[in-house]
Amino acid sequence: MLIGGIEAGGTKMVCAVGDESGKVMDRVSFPTRQPEETFRDLIDYFKGRDIQALGVGCFGPLDLNKDSKTYGYITKTPKKGWEYCDVVGMLKNALNVPVGFDTDVNGAVLGEVTWGAAKGAESAIYITVGTGVGVGVYVNGGLLHGLVHPEAGHMLLGRHPEDEYVSCCPYHKNCMEGLASGTAVSGRWGKKGVELADRDEVWELEAFYIGQAIANYVLAYSPQKIILWGGVMHQEKLFDMVRREAKNMLNGYIPHDMILNSMEEYIVPPALGEDPGIMGAIKLGLDALG
Ligand code: ZN
Repeated sequence: MLIGGIEAGGTKMVCAVGDESGKVMDRVSFPTRQPEETFRDLIDYFKGRDIQALGVGCFGPLDLNKDSKTYGYITKTPKKGWEYCDVVGMLKNALNVPVGFDTDVNGAVLGEVTWGAAKGAESAIYITVGTGVGVGVYVNGGLLHGLVHPEAGHMLLGRHPEDEYVSCCPYHKNCMEGLASGTAVSGRWGKKGVELADRDEVWELEAFYIGQAIANYVLAYSPQKIILWGGVMHQEKLFDMVRREAKNMLNGYIPHDMILNSMEEYIVPPALGEDPGIMGAIKLGLDALG
């Protein structure tokens, strides 16, 4: 059985065809332009490929409430031309298959829970620290939605007393994305992360914020596995620093062996490499078959 997946990002659209075992047979990517021409590419790619269902992990914010008139839409995005874009409707009408739909980061956590580092977990989170920060949340065997969907990349954090950077988030002076994203790193230090690899103070401050956010996610979601990735995490030494900071901030309060003694197994990079998003999209498609 063939299932289609789309990892829909603000700069590119990754499309793939896979099967129920997670094997990917084919993939392409298209630059994200205006919706009309972008959807033309997506639909042309899947037409004639005999997919039984399609899953989409999409940049947001999204309407995921199935009772809403705008279910399946991207909602109020600053991305020009994409505001209130009916993603599910356009794909469903053109391809005539069930379409599963969720946020890009919820897709990624689903990929890792199904085939990757969190396989078998009942609860897990996927954190990406790149240009922005996103957090996918899987709780009690399902993706977490609610009033809208979690936006834990904007969790408010306590500022480091010596950090005078203003925040790159237009909404919050002290949120995770505003203080710890790749955009914040280059805004604060005047250079990109890759050019700052040997500056310890850069990564100590990153670990302070990422570790703090993770401590909050542990307290709020109680994940069994934390998958951490994104451009900023390509600084490999940062993993151990983040583990140390998260443990210090929890300060022995969660009396579980994983946190007390096995942080290196608890906070990990994805097992699916750069693929959790597209694999998760395929799983969203499989799940849409019901
Ligand atoms: Zn924010």
